[in-house]
Amino acid sequence: MCGIVGYISKNGNPDSLKVGLEALRRLEYRGYDSAGFAGYDERTKKIVSQKAVGKIVKLEEKIKGSHEQFSVNPIILHTRWATTGTVTEANAHPHHDCRENIWLVHNGIIENYQYLKARLEKEGHKFYSETDTEVIAHLVEKFFEGNKRKNLEGAVVEAIKLLKGTYGLAVIARDDPEKIVVARLSSPLVIGVGENEFLVASDYNAIIAHTRKVVYLNDNEVAVITPDKFSILGTEEIKTDFLDWQLEDADKGKYPHFMIKEIMEEPETMENVIRGRLVMEEG
Ligand code: GLU
Repeated sequence: MCGIVGYISKNGNPDSLKVGLEALRRLEYRGYDSAGFAGYDERTKKIVSQKAVGKIVKLEEKIKGSHEQFSVNPIILHTRWATTGTVTEANAHPHHDCRENIWLVHNGIIENYQYLKARLEKEGHKFYSETDTEVIAHLVEKFFEGNKRKNLEGAVVEAIKLLKGTYGLAVIARDDPEKIVVARLSSPLVIGVGENEFLVASDYNAIIAHTRKVVYLNDNEVAVITPDKFSILGTEEIKTDFLDWQLEDADKGKYPHFMIKEIMEEPETMENVIRGRLVMEEG
């Protein structure tokens, strides 16, 4: 399963890339074939991105000596475990729209992506990858452009209505830059609530070094995270949980060693393996 990380801070932490990469590294144990990130650079008012096939260290080699160039806020990062499209740099996440305005990372499988892609191509959208994920970026673009207030969460809400399949999503936009919008359906997403900073990830392991205060997003929920606060659309009462184990135990959760953890997690693992590949209604 892919790894997702997002980070946004109040005063634009200059080490956002470092924080993001550290969090991403804590998801490495899940396995992956490529990695990438994208973040908003206030100085150029653009979103900058880098991707690499292979380990996170390959991505780090690519940006060696140019970390300053990536003083960004917010930032989204991803480790990919290819399901749709081969293992190439073009297929690595984050993916973007035609205008390089919308950027997103995705965990899951969009089953109707071929249908949506054909429709979007007819409307003039140009695709550069073989992934199902890129379709989501163009869909968000379509609704963002059609939306008078140019509001990212509004566009994400419209886009996900058309998706069939599974997703954990973290989305940013150059033209609505002070937020990360996250959404999920059958793919885990957790928001870490820190002091003047928020982290979002597909797994609490990525978050625990920063904060123990977490909010688990439920299926069909969309959350908007800004440097000051976060909200879950349509929800007044938000339930916060506290992770009460030590950082060094985080990978093992509540188990004394990895072997027993893996055995006990078999039901969840089976669910993850089947997810998006077994369509109950269609048999
Ligand atoms: N379907 C997406 C891709 O192939 C995400 C992969 C996954 O979640 O495993 O890039």
